[in-house]
Amino acid sequence: MTEDSIIDLVQQHRSQGGDPPPAEPNNPSQDMQNAAMMRKAQVMSENIPEDSAIEEALEGLLTHVKNKMAWTVVQLPSRGLLYEDGTTEVKLRPFTFADEKMLKSIPVNSDGLQVIDKLLENCVEGVDTHQLTPADRLYVLFRLRGISYGDDYKITHDCLNCGHSSELTLGISTLTATPLTQEHMLFVLPDSEQEVEIKLPRTQDENLFSSNEMLMQNMHMFIRRVGAVADPLVIEAFVQKTTVRDIDTLRRHIYMPDYGMETHFFYSCNGCAHKNRVEIGLNENFFTAS
Ligand SMILES: [Zn+2]
Repeated sequence: MTEDSIIDLVQQHRSQGGDPPPAEPNNPSQDMQNAAMMRKAQVMSENIPEDSAIEEALEGLLTHVKNKMAWTVVQLPSRGLLYEDGTTEVKLRPFTFADEKMLKSIPVNSDGLQVIDKLLENCVEGVDTHQLTPADRLYVLFRLRGISYGDDYKITHDCLNCGHSSELTLGISTLTATPLTQEHMLFVLPDSEQEVEIKLPRTQDENLFSSNEMLMQNMHMFIRRVGAVADPLVIEAFVQKTTVRDIDTLRRHIYMPDYGMETHFFYSCNGCAHKNRVEIGLNENFFTAS
């Protein structure tokens, strides 16, 4: 029971005691009830100092943890251009024991995406995490990993040339995030020479472009306007009829937006000096201390 709730109870009782219900003079059970309540409240009152002492002691032990559990403000790579309320930053807090328990409960052979969603819900404040774009989501996940388990992220990579295995350490804080610009979403198509305004897919839209076919089929859903026309039917027909060069431009802007965290890095192999490109993703070390 928390200190507050005890105090509430006692106060509640005191106020009742101070203003007793008009008891009938000959009602011994009412009197007994009142007496019992008074004794209970007294015991509770005596317990309050003890409880605050425990709390104080615990607080002393957790002084440094408290600083580490503080919320960290993080700028989103989308820079407020994608969310209706113009969200530019979110607050993150490190994972707790409870969060970790949930993480470890991910069944083998599941992708764990639902658990990651739940983690984001718990540890991110300031945005509906389901509304995050994939780029913002990835960035937030890596920053969460950094503040929870430490900045060093270990990646094992086998050289693409000679197969030599390298243990690499990536510093999460060294990852740069490219901010999104307004120009990325408002541009002129090369052949039709129409100005288009697009929107970018959210994490929850990922099923709309899970295959190449889907990606092309759903492209019109991410176009707000072509020239002065915002009618979805016209836009859908426009996508069918315009040139492949226009489509390619749209495809790159919508599905491969060049903002967010770097998702790869290079290293030279110790065995053969081959320059390897490594994709940065969630591996088995992602949710463990380095
Ligand atoms: Zn090599």
